[in-house]
Amino acid sequence: MSELTELYKEVRVCQKCILSQGRANAVPGEGPEDADILFIGEGPGFHEDRQGRPFVGAAGNYLNELLEKIDLKREEVYITNVIKCRPPGNRDPQPEEIEACRPYLDRQITLIHPRLIITLGRYSMQRYFPGASISRIHGQPKRVGNVIYYPMFHPAAALHQPRWRSLLEEDMGKIPHLLAKLDELEEQEPEHPSTQAQQLSLF
Ligand code: URA
Ligand code: SF4
Repeated sequence: MSELTELYKEVRVCQKCILSQGRANAVPGEGPEDADILFIGEGPGFHEDRQGRPFVGAAGNYLNELLEKIDLKREEVYITNVIKCRPPGNRDPQPEEIEACRPYLDRQITLIHPRLIITLGRYSMQRYFPGASISRIHGQPKRVGNVIYYPMFHPAAALHQPRWRSLLEEDMGKIPHLLAKLDELEEQEPEHPSTQAQQLSLF
């Protein structure tokens, strides 16, 4: 069994936080183990909890549309969330829940080692941009070694707020440039040693 499949098995029976009590299904994530691009959302909603799959409701349909516009297939990216079980009534995830669930996301990132990590919304942004405000930093890529971290608005939030919607679509439109930039960086320095964060001035 692959290590990722092993992780899915663990997540499906996990009881490390209170969210295990109200879920129908845990939602570990899905996508190829060697994906270049990783999307991290917040947590499962109603439909995700029902189906055990990430981003399958309204926000998911919108995300699929946005991916299509930039010629990415959903099947070629990896999609997961900060927390793997649905909070009751879709309330915000609590710090202790995010902490309890963190090792799963850490392991996913280690196993997949994506080149582009895209955070959707505030909770996944916090992981890489602690204390930042999403209105300020959305669409601004950060490079650490040969990995680019890219914060975006959450598609569910954008669906409810027309102003964020156009910003999210604009930021999505930059992804092909980021992928090209990654190829360039890798060609220049295949084993970039830096752990220093650098702002990428691409746009
Ligand atoms: N919103 C999220 O953050 N994640 C999902 O999987 C679905 C909706
Ligand atoms: Fe376990 Fe994460 Fe689900 Fe909590 S949210 S029960 S830590 S899988």
